[in-house]
Amino acid sequence: MIQSTLRVLVVGAGIAGLAAARALRLAGFRPEVVERLPAPMPSVEGIFLPGNADRALRHLELDGPLRRLGQVIERQRFLDVSGRQLCEVDLGGLWAGVGDCRALSRSDLHEVLLDGAGGPVRHGVEVYEVRPGRYGVSVVFADGAEETYDLVVGADGPRSAVRTLAALGGPPRLAGQVAYRGVVDGGPEVRDWVAVLGQRAGFLVMPMGGGRLYCYADESGTEVPADPLARLRELFAGYGGPVPGVLDALRDVRVAPTDELDLGRWSHGRVVLVGDAAHATAPTLSQGAAMAVEDAVVLAAALRAGESVEEALRAYEVRRRPRAKWVRDRTHDRDRTRNVPPALRDPVLRGRGGRIFQQHYRLLLEPA
Ligand SMILES: Cc1cc2nc3c(=O)[nH]c(=O)nc-3n(C[C@H](O)[C@H](O)[C@H](O)COP(=O)(O)OP(=O)(O)OC[C@H]3O[C@@H](n4cnc5c(N)ncnc54)[C@H](O)[C@@H]3O)c2cc1C
Repeated sequence: MIQSTLRVLVVGAGIAGLAAARALRLAGFRPEVVERLPAPMPSVEGIFLPGNADRALRHLELDGPLRRLGQVIERQRFLDVSGRQLCEVDLGGLWAGVGDCRALSRSDLHEVLLDGAGGPVRHGVEVYEVRPGRYGVSVVFADGAEETYDLVVGADGPRSAVRTLAALGGPPRLAGQVAYRGVVDGGPEVRDWVAVLGQRAGFLVMPMGGGRLYCYADESGTEVPADPLARLRELFAGYGGPVPGVLDALRDVRVAPTDELDLGRWSHGRVVLVGDAAHATAPTLSQGAAMAVEDAVVLAAALRAGESVEEALRAYEVRRRPRAKWVRDRTHDRDRTRNVPPALRDPVLRGRGGRIFQQHYRLLLEPA
């Protein structure tokens, strides 16, 4: 039986860290949370949460506050470059009994998670050293302070310092896409999640509530352009559907290459990784947040049920790895299709694209 007095440090107050803090509190622990940013950073960006994110947030009793935010998305439509429909997925049907699919502002999601963390987050505190020992973990902070914990949860993102310091793995590899994100006020009328598929590039747009549209675009490659908005306009000139209207309305865009990780193990002694620190992938399936919240739910349940911390960390990893692998593998499957010439790919998608895309979520319909 693991005592609720366990000293737990959660490193990082992103989606994974805040969800872990909430899940651990609900399980009776009192985690400390540190975040290297000086304050929560407002983000204008959007995020799409498939139904399994809603289910995991329900486990954390956070689905209520979320229900008032963003917009429920009932349908995914896939279009060819000229804007003609290739196929669609009925999201309400696919995720029936699991949860709603929702697009919302990242800041709104962050606020819900921060409110739900159930204790203070110490901002402006960066972890500098992590030394897993036999009976605990010694942590040195950037200001030189040193503390010992019974458990350290590394929720510090794809470039996790905890992962490196605890000898669990180095930097992520580039997944092979450059991703652009922006939000448009007004713009064309878009009611569904709509993806326009080109070759080696795609453009996705969805309503995120408040009359705003969230758009996400990507191209194969790893080089970040000097002028992302100009590159976006050049790359997607000639695309149909909602793309021209969105490009006209877009004023600002963020760009970054995507990361991917495949670690040999997720824990070392009493240090464990959750979220992107453990299993970052390209965001093709929009599973990053869902996976992070599911990790938190499973980790807290394993600690509550475990005889020892080490056993609980093993149980967590055994349970979560197949799902992380599924997301990585299906992400690869979907990303491979971007390099297939549309003349070959589009007829297949017209015939059975809806079924193929639904299949990518098959395992994720099951409980985490
Ligand atoms: C372009 C793009 C689009 C995406 N779209 C979606 C989407 O639509 N839906 C979806 O579900 N997912 C999406 N994702 C993925 C999703 O954003 C991530 O999976 C998710 O944010 C991971 O959360 P995290 O908490 O694990 O990591 P992060 O969000 O990276 O949070 C880590 C936190 O740890 C802090 N930190 C780092 N180092 C330290 C340290 N040494 N000490 C203290 N604190 C530290 C950081 O400041 C940060 O706040 C997208 C990703 C990208 C790149």
